[in-house]
Parts: sequence; C-alpha cells; structure tokens
Amino acid sequence: MSVEEQVSTYYDMLLKRNAGEPEFHQAVSEVLDSLKVVLDKDPHYADYGLIQRLCEPERQLIFRVPWVDDAGLVQVNRGFRVQFNSALGPYKGGLRFHPSVNLGIVKFLGFEQIFKNSLTGLPIGGGKGGSDFDPKGKSDAEVMRFCQSFMTELHRHIGQYRDVPAGDIGVGGREIGYLFGQYRRLSNQHESGVLTGKGLTWGGSLVRTEATGFGVVYLTQEMMKAAGDSLDGAKVIVSGSGNVAVYAMQKAQELGATVVGFSDSSGWVETPNGVDVELLRDVKEIRRERVTAYVEDADGATMHTEGSIWDLKADVALPCATQNELNGEHAATLAANGVRYVAEGANMPSTPEAVELFHNKGILFAPGKAANAGGVATSALEMQQNASRDSWTFEYTDQRLHQIMSNIFGTMSSTAAEYGHENNFVMGANIAGFRKVADAMLAQGVV
Ligand code: GLU
Repeated sequence: MSVEEQVSTYYDMLLKRNAGEPEFHQAVSEVLDSLKVVLDKDPHYADYGLIQRLCEPERQLIFRVPWVDDAGLVQVNRGFRVQFNSALGPYKGGLRFHPSVNLGIVKFLGFEQIFKNSLTGLPIGGGKGGSDFDPKGKSDAEVMRFCQSFMTELHRHIGQYRDVPAGDIGVGGREIGYLFGQYRRLSNQHESGVLTGKGLTWGGSLVRTEATGFGVVYLTQEMMKAAGDSLDGAKVIVSGSGNVAVYAMQKAQELGATVVGFSDSSGWVETPNGVDVELLRDVKEIRRERVTAYVEDADGATMHTEGSIWDLKADVALPCATQNELNGEHAATLAANGVRYVAEGANMPSTPEAVELFHNKGILFAPGKAANAGGVATSALEMQQNASRDSWTFEYTDQRLHQIMSNIFGTMSSTAAEYGHENNFVMGANIAGFRKVADAMLAQGVV
C-alpha cells in the first residue's frame, strides 16, 4: 500500500470510530496530511501501529459534576479529561469551561496539545479537559461550588507525575484557586506541582499569566525578522479579548505596533490609535464585562456588530479567540487588505480553507500549536520551580519564554525546509512535534 493509501485507510477508520467529532477529525486530518512526507522518507514511523496509537487517547474520563446554584437548585454538568499521550512526560494541558465543550472538542484540544508540548522542548505529555459549565453570569460562590465538585472527581486522576491541568477558556486564576483548594483538602497535601497557573504566593510562576500572549508576539517577531520585517510601526488586529488576546496586545504595542482592533462574542472594536490595555484588563478581568463597556470608557474606539474584525486593514492578524473563528472568506479579506503575517493565539482558530488560502497567497502563517505554546511552556517552567521549591524573577522567566519561542520558530522553519516545504510552518510544526513523540513511543514499545 502506498503511504497515501495507508494514511487514507487509517483516517477513514478514525472517522467511523470517532463519529460526531468534527473538530477532532479536522485536527487529525491536518497532522496526517503533514506526515505523508515523513512516512515516505522514513517508513519505520508507521511501524508498531504508531500512527493508530498516536490518534487514540491513552485514557478518556467523562464524569458527572453536580452542584447547587444560588437559588438552591441542583445543576448537573459534564466533566472531561482526556489523557492523550504521556510518552514525553506527565499529561499536561488546560481545562476549558464553556457551554460548547464536549468529548470531540476535548479530544481535538488534547491531540493538538501533544505536538505543541513536544515543540516546547520540555518534558510534558499531552492532555486536555473541561466541562460544559458556563462561568458567564455565575456568582463567585457558584463558580467555587462547581470547581469543588469538578475536582472531587478529577483529583483521583491527576498528580505532579501523572497529569497536570491548567487553565484555558473560562478557567483563569480564580478557578485554578478553587480547584487547587479542593485538591489540597482531598489529598491532604500541598502538592504544588499538580496544577499550573496558580497564584504567586502559593506556587505560581511570574509570567505565566502573560505567557501565551507574550509568546505569540515573540514568535511573530521571529517570523517577521526572518522575512526582513519587524513589528515596529506595524498595524495588528487581534480577535478576542481574553487572557491570550490582552497580553498579545500589550506585547505587540510594547514592541512598537498599533493594535487597531479586537473583539469578543458580542462584536468587535475598532481602535485606530491603539488599545488602552489597562482599561481593557479592568473591563474583562476585574469587572468581567463585555467590550461595549470598553468603548464607553475609551477615547476613539468604535463598536461594530456587523461584519467581522477581519474586515480591518492591517499587516498582522492574531486570531486569539476560539476554534474555527477565521474561515476562507475572512482569509480572502485579510489577503485583499494586505495582511502578510498570521499567528494563532487560539487553538485551531483558522479553518483548513483559510490556511490553504494563506499558503497560496504567500502569507506567513504560524499555527497555534507553535505560536501559542508559550502558555504551556511557562506552565512547565512553573512545574520546574515547584519541583525545586524555588521562584524565579520575572526577567529570568520571560527570558526563558522568549528563548523557547525563538527555538520553536527555528525548529518549525528548519523542519519545513528539510522536507522541501520552506515557509510552510504547518508542516514544520506538525513534523517536528511528531518526530520527538514518535521516537519516544518507538523506544518505549507497544504500550
Ligand atoms: N490551555 C493552554 C494551552 O492551550 C495552556 C495549557 C497549560 O498551561 O497546561 O496550551
């Protein structure tokens, strides 16, 4: 059987065995596509059922999460943890609390995490979890009771050497605090390495909050530098206004760019003179309000509910909201408007049609598993600090993050070139991420 036939037979089987999980299919299909050239050159990577094993999670947990709301009514949510691959280290990846969460979403995120974590160069496996719980509009006490119930089940499945969850959409410092408190109570141990994204006084790391957003911009900077360009004076659009988006905006502006627009699920905001990041943080992180509140308080910002953030003219686009937020049509608009660089702060925000268009138009495109790896990389640095009962300075940690992002850019770019696909960073990231995990899995036998 040719490699082409082999991969397509396996993919057809995966579709049948994982019905109704389109995002998981999308993530696997992209990786398998990239791997064809690897299997052609090094057929041993298909030995011992390696590809089949890579696409099948080591363990999938689904559990009931009952909790009592402020009105005294019982609410029931569903909790998930997919422990996808531990060949390189303990399972590592965030928890997402959002009404759209289901098993297929968690599997796509867990699958992406394997390659992302491998690319960081640090010893972490891949996993992901979450719940269909919606923290929006809930009181602090409700969020706390939910987190406690969630952890009451999850605690038996995690640990510093087993599985180390962190945040993602809907899970930030507040939620990690409640989750850690319950874990500490149930285990009767202050095992700081069991979760990352902790508060600074109880095992958290400086830079972890900013890391994903800063990392996206550090990688964008490398990508622009390789093309003889820089962020200084560039116009940037950022979708989203959560943790990743906010710190991407801050770092881009620190490096001389102007962020000309951002968004949330209620609409998008045009900011021709740049974004007041302090105000936006106050609106989103402290007041927990929508971007309309930013527009009311900021000078020269306009709210839009028609069209999309991708209609703005810019040099750089950073999709930092959620999966499949940027489709083929959006990509065509970006290209027509002169965007030359795209780096994904979110996980898989661009559809396959969008990615194809970027490649055809010569737009340099950095996929999420490389561009947003700074968050999980800094989580691994938090684990290092926990293991040595130490805490590093902001400057040192930021320098480590910066170095990791430069290395990721170098690795994906040289790997793409090695396989004859220069500047195709999707291929570069998938292949480089894969090879390390695959070598470890082959060395460790059929497990
Ligand atoms: N949720 C983040 C991601 O998508 C961070 C995971 C972590 O820090 O473990 O990579």
